Amino acid sequence: MLFFDIDGTLFDHPSAEKAGALGFLDTRREIFSFPTPDFLGLWSDLMEKYYQLYLQGALTFSEQRRARVRELYNLAGYKITDQEADHAFQDYLEHYERAWTVYPDVVPCLTQLEHMGLGVITNGDYQQQTAKLKQVGIRQFFSIIVTSGEVGFAKPDRRIFLEACSRANREPARCYYIGDLLETDYAGSTAAGLRGIWLNRNGRQLSSETPIPTLKSLQLLPSLVEQR
Ligand SMILES: [Mg+2]
Repeated sequence: MLFFDIDGTLFDHPSAEKAGALGFLDTRREIFSFPTPDFLGLWSDLMEKYYQLYLQGALTFSEQRRARVRELYNLAGYKITDQEADHAFQDYLEHYERAWTVYPDVVPCLTQLEHMGLGVITNGDYQQQTAKLKQVGIRQFFSIIVTSGEVGFAKPDRRIFLEACSRANREPARCYYIGDLLETDYAGSTAAGLRGIWLNRNGRQLSSETPIPTLKSLQLLPSLVEQR
């Protein structure tokens, strides 16, 4: 059985987020007069900050969306109501969803490995994550979908990985987990007893001495797992 992370692993989240933020900015240049790269950096930092609070259970999924937009406006010197924040976020969401796409190595890899049994384990909201898989045309590959929103634990918590193995009725040691984040995905899944594989799409250099099973692309995943 192979379990995958979604964002940054199967789904090109960085590109979609950028398209969403640019679409949002486009009609609001007078409010946000920062240089575009600064705006994009800020958007991404606020997303990270409030999404973590959501994953920790401090905010609901819709509260973290609202909080992101409110802080953004505050930084530009504006106070907005909850309703205005929700409305503005909707604008981002439309551009974000229009840009949803998978990385080019995803479909060939899933097609080749489907016979091993495939699932996803993701930190996010069940509805949004399954909607992404459907819209980009890969939902049918997965027999198991485990989201933190639904089970109540977020990666790197071992329990979310163990829950997925238990639903698949497999021992963790017989399951792989492939994800793009070293701590959240690789360290979390390995601690739960799965065979973690780090997908290093950006070619990040590590100073660590410990060898970590690493791939730069999903193209090489079939040869790695099928020869074992
Ligand atoms: Mg990821």
